[in-house]
Amino acid sequence: MGKRENYLSWKQYFMTIATASAMRSKDPNTQVGAVIVNGLNQILSTGYNGFPRGIDDDIFPWANSDGEWAELKYPYVAHAELNAIVSAKTDLTNTSLYVTLFPCNECTKLAIQAGISKIYYMEDKYHNDKEFVTSRKMLDAAGIVYEALLDLEINIEVK
Ligand SMILES: [Zn+2]
Repeated sequence: MGKRENYLSWKQYFMTIATASAMRSKDPNTQVGAVIVNGLNQILSTGYNGFPRGIDDDIFPWANSDGEWAELKYPYVAHAELNAIVSAKTDLTNTSLYVTLFPCNECTKLAIQAGISKIYYMEDKYHNDKEFVTSRKMLDAAGIVYEALLDLEINIEVK
C-alpha cells in the first residue's frame, strides 16, 4: 500500500492554520489570521486581529463606522500580521507569511523590517484602497514576492 493521497499540501496546511487563527478574532466584521513559517516548513508564530494585551475587548469599541475615530476599533486593533510578528521569539529573516487577507501598508512595513521574504494570501478585497495600493508599492520596491492562493480548499468545522 502506498501513502495516503489527499493529505494537505504545505500551503493548504499553513493557510488552514491561518484560517483557524482568524476564528479566534472577536472582531464582528473582519477576522484575519496569520502564520509565519521558516524554510524547514516549521511554524514560528501565529496571530489574529485583536486588541493589545490588557485592552479589554468587552470595553473597547469594535465599531468600524458611525463615530469619532477614538470611538472606533481602528486606533486599538492590532492586525494579525503584527501579532504574529511580535509573538515570534526568533529571527524572521527569509521566512514566509501566510495571511488570510492581503496585508495593509502598516503590516507590510512590519513584515519588511522583520525580514519576511514571501507573502501568501487568500482574500484581496480591498485591492484598490490606498492602504493596499501602497502596500504593493513597498513590496515591489523591496523585492518581496507575494502570491495569491485562491483555489485552496479549506474546510474547518467547529462543533
Ligand atoms: Zn495590517
